[in-house]
Amino acid sequence: MYYIIIIVFMGLSMIVSARLKSKFKKYSQSPIGMTGAQVAQKMLRDNGINDVDVISTPGALTDHYNPANKTVNLSDWVYSQNTVAAAAVAAHECGHAVQHAHAYTWLGFRSKMVPALNISSKIMPWLIMGGIFLFYSSGNSLILIIGIAMFALTTIFSFVTLPVEFDASNRALKWLDTARILNREDHDKAKDALKWAAMTYVVAALASLAQLLYYLSILNNRRD
Ligand SMILES: [Zn+2]
Repeated sequence: MYYIIIIVFMGLSMIVSARLKSKFKKYSQSPIGMTGAQVAQKMLRDNGINDVDVISTPGALTDHYNPANKTVNLSDWVYSQNTVAAAAVAAHECGHAVQHAHAYTWLGFRSKMVPALNISSKIMPWLIMGGIFLFYSSGNSLILIIGIAMFALTTIFSFVTLPVEFDASNRALKWLDTARILNREDHDKAKDALKWAAMTYVVAALASLAQLLYYLSILNNRRD
């Protein structure tokens, strides 16, 4: 049963990421009048944000907002391309900067979880592996329970990520509309691209939940 669930989620995430790639490739062929960097700078200005820098960062799909040093980091192609796809990504990352400026609840909650996750992610796999071994060999469940509790934290984190990501895209699309950066047709393309980007987070959260339930079932089966 567990292997079936793993295969289903691996399949799902492969389908979603392939779909995302093809959407971005397609919408990278729709030119607009501004580069991703210009879109980002304008969106920040329009939202009254003057203390956030827009910089380019190497690699693909490396786009992110860094709240620590207040920078919108755009991958090289998003930074320099003047396409619907680049505008969508740039505006989405600025959406996170706007969340930060407005102290958006879920973003703050997510940021507060990061230090605990950084520590637990290093020891959690060992606790779960060792915990399962110990549990089956001696019946002692303490280590496994601690490992599962840490894993539950990562599952919660992946679900807290969802409203943050959806909200950033909503802010992006709303602004792209009101600032008249995109026409009706291009707006639909941007919406579609961001929808598939968000889907990757949904699949990751569900996969994490499935894994958590699996660990809990190990604990439960043995107890019966
Ligand atoms: Zn995001």
